[in-house]
Amino acid sequence: MSASSRNLRYIIIGAGMAGILAGIRLRERGEENFVIYEKGDGVGGTWRENTYPGVACDTPAHSYSYSFAFNPEWSAFYAPGSEIRGYFEKMTDRFGVRDFIRFNTEIASCRFEDGRWHVTTRDGEEDVADVLVAATGVLHHPSIPDIPGLADFQGKCFHSARWDHDIDYARQRVGVIGNGSTGVQIVAALAGKVQRLVHFQRSPQWIMPCPDTRYSEDDKQAFRTDPQRIEDVRSGPEAQARRGRFLAAIIDANSPELAEIQSIVEQNLENSVRDPALREKLRPNYRAACKRMVFSPNYYEKVQDPTVYVDTSGIERIESDGVRMRDGSFHPLDVLVLATGFKADAFVRPMTITGRDGADLNTLWAQHPKAYYAVTVPDFPNFFMLNGPTGPVGNFSLIDIAERQWNYIEQLVALLRSGRCTEVSPSHAALEHYEALRTEAAKKTVFASGCSSWYLDAEGVPQVWPWPYEHFMEVMEKPNLDDYELTAA
Ligand code: NAP
Repeated sequence: MSASSRNLRYIIIGAGMAGILAGIRLRERGEENFVIYEKGDGVGGTWRENTYPGVACDTPAHSYSYSFAFNPEWSAFYAPGSEIRGYFEKMTDRFGVRDFIRFNTEIASCRFEDGRWHVTTRDGEEDVADVLVAATGVLHHPSIPDIPGLADFQGKCFHSARWDHDIDYARQRVGVIGNGSTGVQIVAALAGKVQRLVHFQRSPQWIMPCPDTRYSEDDKQAFRTDPQRIEDVRSGPEAQARRGRFLAAIIDANSPELAEIQSIVEQNLENSVRDPALREKLRPNYRAACKRMVFSPNYYEKVQDPTVYVDTSGIERIESDGVRMRDGSFHPLDVLVLATGFKADAFVRPMTITGRDGADLNTLWAQHPKAYYAVTVPDFPNFFMLNGPTGPVGNFSLIDIAERQWNYIEQLVALLRSGRCTEVSPSHAALEHYEALRTEAAKKTVFASGCSSWYLDAEGVPQVWPWPYEHFMEVMEKPNLDDYELTAA
């Protein structure tokens, strides 16, 4: 085969934001030999799965869009989830990616053998490709809490990512367990609209106030005629200042930027919650941004609605008709919502991924999931992850992250396409070096400053990108091939 004529076949797993991006980029290059496997029946990943009331993205909508497909039609500064899903549906069609997606097809295993990836679906179908891209998302395996009696509850009980739309909520007494970004959005949306709402909080959250700006027709027209206005929302001085402050704060828990954020959230609590007893219930005992920052324009206002009760006294057990607290009090409930988060360390699992010479990803990830610069894994040649472990997650646009990662992946794939090598993967030494530096830096971030969160691994070390975002942008510009093993056939 002539080196320059190597026609690669690609398998992409997941048709969320990142998988669609991969499809768009491949089509742009004129590549047609690829398939995107999607376990669900539609595109949009997290935005397909999360349909709870109030679901929205707390990254500004114009930043939460592909850099090559601005959307002047966003209805608000922070777009609702259904609109974001609609955007991805539209992009899938606009860029001709839909025909490449196999819906309702879950991948069970991937095996690197004879220089290619052999992929098996849950139904036992097999497919083969040269390049495997996991675009499987970060937070999609619901975490069901281990609370005694949960199975005994006789009312409706479901996880926030499995919202039951068949209930007439106006007539119900609803309990929401969990006050991360999801629980806060649900409670703010349901307050005053159900008979009674109880918000169960194990640890209070700092709430960052944010504007509830809706875009008027005039605003949209201005975005349509002048894309620079969109660019300004994405990366104008205000956006840069916001991002800069947040970044400086998270990588240095003693920075003046974190002190400023701390002061904003404390003021928000002081100024928004009138009842001193409720205010104290809602006051966290850890630093702002230690858990992922929750943004809300109206949570404090809504939680003071007379139909809402915040309980921080600790759940003793769930009974058939409600929730018993440790202080003996009882909340009779018809509906119990588990806004209890996700198994954040799952990534590609429960799929099994077997690399070169039988290397097992589960074994490599026994301690915690890891990947060289969040994208590649030693002994797993021609395997790439979008939004994989230790990338910059949190209050960033995962779209910008995935676009930069794709740029990096493309350069490694180009080595395969050109025939310079048939297998590309990072060395073990490179991953170890990266992990050593990353772990040291992660221990100094605000995420390690004394709270529980889904960022932390079993040993309490944040599984995050611990450096400035600029460093991420820089390393994603061009892979350092000294850290890679290139194998020729
Ligand atoms: P989360 O941040 O992990 O929060 C889970 C909540 O459930 C916490 O309040 C936790 O309490 C509570 N919880 C868990 N187990 C419990 C138990 N056994 N008993 C009592 N309480 C329990 O989950 P999430 O709110 O679904 O958010 C996950 C992530 O999704 C976010 O951090 C964010 O990255 C993303 N998200 C983003 C948006 C957005 O607007 N962009 C919206 C929603 C979600 P503790 O704090 O005490 O552990």
